[in-house]
Amino acid sequence: MNYKMDQKFKDFFQDNLKQVFLYLIDDCNLRCVQCLYKLDICFQVEKKEIAFEDAVKLISDFRELGAVKLTLMGGEPTLYGKKDGNKQLLELIKKSKELGYEYVRIDTNGQFDSELLEKPEFKMLDEVTFSIDRTNKRN
Ligand code: SF4
Repeated sequence: MNYKMDQKFKDFFQDNLKQVFLYLIDDCNLRCVQCLYKLDICFQVEKKEIAFEDAVKLISDFRELGAVKLTLMGGEPTLYGKKDGNKQLLELIKKSKELGYEYVRIDTNGQFDSELLEKPEFKMLDEVTFSIDRTNKRN
């Protein structure tokens, strides 16, 4: 374990944890009307994202507790490490498979460069889930 966890949490989830949803980043490239995270993505001066090292430690710890399914989400998860060619996101997908996650999914709005689809690490994903919502208001 990388993080000191509350013993009750650990006891409860040991070998019972199956699925983890990991929020990688607050930022998003859309501003949907219905967004639950709007306050976070619109008004933060500094857009926050999880440190790569922390993300790896967390998925390692949750794997030790038994998790086999991992969903990467945000904000918009394809913005994670975008300035470095999505290196962090791609490394995290690869690492999750190395750790033994059987099913790794990304929840995205689909607004990313199609080149990402060609990356070997991105192809390691078991599922890419797109959120499809209206773009205009109903009167
Ligand atoms: S794509 Fe998702 S996170 Fe981004 S603004 Fe829309 S609802 Fe919010």
